[in-house]
Amino acid sequence: MPSVLVVEDESSIAELIAVNLRHNGFRPIWAMDSVTAQKDLDASLPDLILLDWMLPGESGLTLAKRWRADPRTHAVPIIMLTARGDEADRVAGLDAGADDYIAKPFSTKELLARIRAVLRRRTPEQAGEVLAMGALVLDPTTHRVSFEDRPLKLGPTEFKLLHYFMGHAERVHSRSQLLDKVWGDHVYIEERTVDVHVKRLREAMAQAGTMVETVRGAGYRLTITPAPVAAGATTEKIRT
Ligand code: CA
Repeated sequence: MPSVLVVEDESSIAELIAVNLRHNGFRPIWAMDSVTAQKDLDASLPDLILLDWMLPGESGLTLAKRWRADPRTHAVPIIMLTARGDEADRVAGLDAGADDYIAKPFSTKELLARIRAVLRRRTPEQAGEVLAMGALVLDPTTHRVSFEDRPLKLGPTEFKLLHYFMGHAERVHSRSQLLDKVWGDHVYIEERTVDVHVKRLREAMAQAGTMVETVRGAGYRLTITPAPVAAGATTEKIRT
């Protein structure tokens, strides 16, 4: 169930949004100010942030800029909510890194449609679509993975990990980002856990070639073209 962090100081609007999100298969988390929102983000990353522009203390615009600049939160989609609908504000919101912008008053139907559109665009692994990378195919609805039409056997965590990797192929993910996105609340899980499951995933995908690369000092990346192993190369195959 995708989680949505709703940063909104007006409780009546926040409640209306939360009820509609719940009825439509989302898990809302309400933060009524920037401090609470930051605490929620530090605890675990949501799948999307609905961010009100006018907040007590720091504005939504300031928060959007900060979260975009932070490597931990920069990939979380943001939809700005605002009573300010003119073009200059719209541009400022998008410039700050918002994925979309919706002016108050809005219909909850439109809000849900925008949330789904942004999630489809930003997190294809949430949309339930079959993902393919070369001859590697993952079907989220049947929970099947195959390489060159031969089924691969994956444990549930390895499946989730591969699902996430395939939705964000060729990008480098730190262990802490993977804990957030694949495990959810990571507070009590050691980063070493990620290494264990990456190792298992590699073993399960051995016939598909080494596709999960270790990027030294940064994390892991699923790639279709493994980097050549050369002197001074920034990537290396893990030897665990
Ligand atoms: Ca407000």
